[in-house]
Amino acid sequence: MFNKKTIEDLQVRGKRVLVRCDFNVPLDGDKITDETRINGALPTIKYLMENGAKVILCSHMGKPKGEPKPEFSLAPVAKSLTAKLGKEVVFAADDNVVGENAKKAVAEMNDGDVVLLQNTRYRAEETKNIDTFSEELASLADVFVNDAFGTAHRAHCSTEGVTKYLKEAAAGYLIQKEIEYLGNAVDSPARPLVAVLGGSKVSSKISVINNLLEKVDTLIIGGGMAYTFMKACGEEVGDSLLEADFIDYAKEMMDKAEKKGVKLLIPVDTVVATAFDNDAEHKTVGRGGIEAGWQGLDIGEKTIELYKDALKDAKTVVWNGPMGVFEMPNFAKGTNAIAQMLADLDAITVIGGGDSVAAVNQAGLGDKMSHISTGGGASLEFLEGKELPGIVALNDK
Ligand code: ADP
Ligand code: MG
Repeated sequence: MFNKKTIEDLQVRGKRVLVRCDFNVPLDGDKITDETRINGALPTIKYLMENGAKVILCSHMGKPKGEPKPEFSLAPVAKSLTAKLGKEVVFAADDNVVGENAKKAVAEMNDGDVVLLQNTRYRAEETKNIDTFSEELASLADVFVNDAFGTAHRAHCSTEGVTKYLKEAAAGYLIQKEIEYLGNAVDSPARPLVAVLGGSKVSSKISVINNLLEKVDTLIIGGGMAYTFMKACGEEVGDSLLEADFIDYAKEMMDKAEKKGVKLLIPVDTVVATAFDNDAEHKTVGRGGIEAGWQGLDIGEKTIELYKDALKDAKTVVWNGPMGVFEMPNFAKGTNAIAQMLADLDAITVIGGGDSVAAVNQAGLGDKMSHISTGGGASLEFLEGKELPGIVALNDK
């Protein structure tokens, strides 16, 4: 169970509360193209406002690499929040984040007011977790709340360093919900528990398998992850994504699955193409049938049936990583079929990973899932069994 203090354990009235949010939203110019993350932060912000806190929000956005860059300004977020909260959110546009504007704005706050600081990654110290910036951030506030699940796996000034200088540190609703869903899904799941892994970030994801094999009943592998396993079975994979350094690891994982009695499934057929292009010539081949000059871009029809069958009795499903290149209609069938299958299941379904979430939303099935995680990397590290520094640093209950 979640054993950290949450905002409801704090006395916040009249206090300056620094809230680390995840406002790392996609922008087109100064237009926010997806407000999911802003919406995800609202429950915590509203709770604090209603309970008379002085709410000081901070976040990173993109990778300005430690310098002020106007295209990474949080100004559009302040505007969006103002509209959503029905109250002006004062934007403290300091290039050094904690500057004259921020100090003045905070000094002028009344209970229930909201101030947003500039992008924390305008400061080079942020991602290096250097104390000077942590201390500056802390100097604005009395209490710290972390609600940025998406960066909880990083020890940065605004996620971890700041807790060295503020005695009280608690989790917001979003982090609490994420940990409850992810934690229950792997530590006390309704069974059978099935994990579905795919996508293209193979080297950063493949190590989750070792821990998942301790927990799941079935592990389904698709997407770019599959070819390293095929190779480990002695099959050629042509120009498909391959992590040559992990072939032995893949073998070990297959052995481990067998010893543990965990079903580990890899595709029995693959949609291959002559190029990474929707209009490239393509066909479906069986195991061992990927020729030189071809690359696997989706799971085939037989695999879809096999995976649906493996999912049909599941009571909990954790999904991270698309089954194919779902952005191209010719290679989206596998991903869409799995999304539809999960949507129709009478089970707890937890979706993590930016592209997996995008795929589910693209299929119009987002609201059919039990939980859509806001943090791909963080949810994966959590599933790997790692401690998330941004959460470890919060006060215990
Ligand atoms: P997530 O964002 O859900 O964590 P990843 O970032 O690991 O997932 O991977 C998503 C990407 O994987 C998608 O852009 C998709 O096109 C790509 N992908 C899936 N299958 C393949 C494949 N067989 N070959 C190349 N890319 C793939
Ligand atoms: Mg991704």
